[in-house]
Amino acid sequence: HAQQAGRNIHAVYAEWMKGSVEQDIRLLADLRSAIGTPQLLLHYQPRIHANSGRVGGAEALLRWRHPEHGLIPCERVIRLAEQHDLMEPLGQWVLNEACRQMRSWQDAGHQDWRISVNLSSRQLGSGQLLGQVRQILEHNGLHPSRLILEISESVVMHDADTTSTSLRALAALGIGISIDDFGTGYSSLLQLKRLPATELKIDRAFILAVEESDEDVVIISAIIALGHALNMDVVAEGIETQGQRTYIERLGCDYLQGNQLGQPVSAESFMRLHGGVALPAVDHSEP
Ligand code: C2E
Ligand code: MG
Ligand code: MG
Ligand code: MG
Repeated sequence: HAQQAGRNIHAVYAEWMKGSVEQDIRLLADLRSAIGTPQLLLHYQPRIHANSGRVGGAEALLRWRHPEHGLIPCERVIRLAEQHDLMEPLGQWVLNEACRQMRSWQDAGHQDWRISVNLSSRQLGSGQLLGQVRQILEHNGLHPSRLILEISESVVMHDADTTSTSLRALAALGIGISIDDFGTGYSSLLQLKRLPATELKIDRAFILAVEESDEDVVIISAIIALGHALNMDVVAEGIETQGQRTYIERLGCDYLQGNQLGQPVSAESFMRLHGGVALPAVDHSEP
């Protein structure tokens, strides 16, 4: 029966991810009015410096607690926003909220931490991004080096010429550029060389079976060697077990991320678990 229930949960989840047109329309209206309310929030997953074992910062991950439907899968929220012109305000909100949190960590003495924020393809393609990021950093009193922007490999390589121009301007400010889900897209090494990336983030598909699969070990080692040769940090995401962690550490990744090291949690829990400081609550009653 437990198995049956598990299957049902997956069926419901799959249904949600797909989403009918009617569902999308209703959800879209809800999402539009959720921006700026406590329904939308960021969770933070620690990024651990492999050599020292210390927290080096966090990745901000979007969460939408729908009043009726509960937690909506992240990918669905992003896809909805991208398809219906909501990505601009949503992306702005995420960037600002993440930078606000980083500022409060900095004020609490964590000057060496960095905040990683995911960018969607829409944001990257818009001509507004550079100006917006600069303004948000300035507004929150953050040096550009405190921010890392994560872009999925498939997005960045899709239109490498356009994206590399806007990424170059961001990188010139000192912002970190991370190629997310690395190994699952279609990187040409020539394009990779031209990108102003500062970091490669190995997709968790390669981490999953690292203990059993010689092939995955070879691939991870090759990505690490490639990243280091191009002067980039290499991060492993999705580490779930001590065994995987030990393996990955030995292979020489610079930063580690995954549930074994710390799940994505609210700012309050992050403070309790990792020593940061949570922001004071925002008064959402103001219009
Ligand atoms: P991502 O950037 O690759 O983020 C990593 C995902 O893996 C997150 O899923 C995280 O919760 C999950 N994760 C972390 N550790 C583990 C682990 O040990 N095991 C497993 N199985 N999973 C782990 P999440 O939060 O559902 O986000 C999914 C994707 O949605 C992200 O993938 C990112 O592409 C996108 N996303 C999330 N927040 C934002 C955002 O604010 N803006 C944009 N544009 N995209 C976002
Ligand atoms: Mg990411
Ligand atoms: Mg990733
Ligand atoms: Mg991923």
